Amino acid sequence: MKRVLIVGAGMTGSLCAALLRKVSGTLYLAVWDKAGDSGGRMTTASSPHNPLCTADLGAQYVTCTPHYAKKHQIFYDELLAHGILKPLTSPIEGMMMKEGDCNFVAPQGISSVVKHYLKQSGAEVYLRHCVTQINLRNGKWEVFKETGSPEQFDLVVLTIPVPQILQLQGDFANLISECQRQQLESVSYSSRYALGLFYEAGTKIDVPWAGQYITSNPCIRFVSIDNKKRNIESSEIGPSLVIHTTVPFGVTHLEHSIKDVQELILQQLENILPGLPQPVAIKCQKWRHSQVTSGPAKCPGQMTLHLKPFLMCGGDGFTQSNFDGCITSALCLLEALKNHI
Ligand SMILES: Cc1cc2nc3c(=O)[nH]c(=O)nc-3n(C[C@H](O)[C@H](O)[C@H](O)COP(=O)(O)OP(=O)(O)OC[C@H]3O[C@@H](n4cnc5c(N)ncnc54)[C@H](O)[C@@H]3O)c2cc1C
Repeated sequence: MKRVLIVGAGMTGSLCAALLRKVSGTLYLAVWDKAGDSGGRMTTASSPHNPLCTADLGAQYVTCTPHYAKKHQIFYDELLAHGILKPLTSPIEGMMMKEGDCNFVAPQGISSVVKHYLKQSGAEVYLRHCVTQINLRNGKWEVFKETGSPEQFDLVVLTIPVPQILQLQGDFANLISECQRQQLESVSYSSRYALGLFYEAGTKIDVPWAGQYITSNPCIRFVSIDNKKRNIESSEIGPSLVIHTTVPFGVTHLEHSIKDVQELILQQLENILPGLPQPVAIKCQKWRHSQVTSGPAKCPGQMTLHLKPFLMCGGDGFTQSNFDGCITSALCLLEALKNHI
């Protein structure tokens, strides 16, 4: 039985796993992620006081253009049929809407999309498995993680942000060609911070919108009442607020302490929404690799790094930095993998 490892339990890795399972029911499929939960940049954080009080700290909603409504229709239809995606009906002020676009939210949090695909894949998902090194050993890949023994796989698929691929050690670093390295080095990302504020049940945040793009603040770009955005307001679960910073703020404060950055964002928030109630918990998330700003022109969807044994990489770094970009990449990964399983 072939052993396949997918590194990264984000949207690309989880969908790639689900698609791979559909074409081969027999292979051993494992997904490793360094984080404590699946979702990647489609993460949903919970309040430490109430796991039902949640906030999407990365991707906020899925914008489906007429082109992808057709091209990826089976994915949209399936997620809508399962109630994982629902149309966005709450007002988002300042949102750029193009004709024919539809927006969707995930009522159970955006990470529920990723969890849906992981479940469908039947893969063994290992969290807190940070891949550090990849070596060639007897015609297989020996994959090292931060703790514990290395494991061997016949095929490896990397779906981690490209700068993190370039940090991998071992034979991997010498096996990729200079041309591939240059292409990988050409992928760049924006950086920003996200803040999640969690409130007690019954707290009122009295604003007429569910989300708002801010254009006049150097620090804050977007604010949303996350439970209102997802249309799941309830008297038993407290509201949650999500703040995204601007990219210039993210870049300037990239190496500063999370505590200091959190304080700065809260000070600016007071200017935008004065007199907000006191949250019961706050989570500050640094997105060092937030959205892709430039990628390699010549490898749409994926890049094959080694043929025997097979090693490839994909993710939004090779397409567009959004939900449809991840679907495109997962489909390209599958197409290339099919010949090797
Ligand atoms: C703030 C923000 C807002 C966004 N808004 C939207 C939006 O509204 N709509 C939209 O469609 N898209 C949005 N995006 C983009 C979208 O989230 C991404 O395109 C998508 O989530 C990328 O998925 P991925 O699986 O390719 O990568 P990721 O989600 O980054 O998954 C990669 C995974 O690899 C893991 N990993 C990294 N290194 C290692 C390692 N060494 N070992 C093991 N695991 C590792 C990470 O923990 C992560 O879980 C947003 C992103 C951000 C950050």
